[in-house]
Amino acid sequence: MEKINSTCFVCGKEVDPKTTSKNLMVNLPICKECKGSDKEKVKVDELLEGMADGFVCGCI
Ligand SMILES: [Zn+2]
Repeated sequence: MEKINSTCFVCGKEVDPKTTSKNLMVNLPICKECKGSDKEKVKVDELLEGMADGFVCGCI
């Protein structure tokens, strides 16, 4: 298998998918430094909002 090039979705740093945990809300890899931080929450909110916007487009 090809090595998957993953980056932390919060800070954009390259991470090893084997040792890096994922945020289950958005299913994206997150590095140790960002995990559990306020930045993570903000980013998750942003991403989920973006997804929600797509789903509810035209409803509001
Ligand atoms: Zn990070």
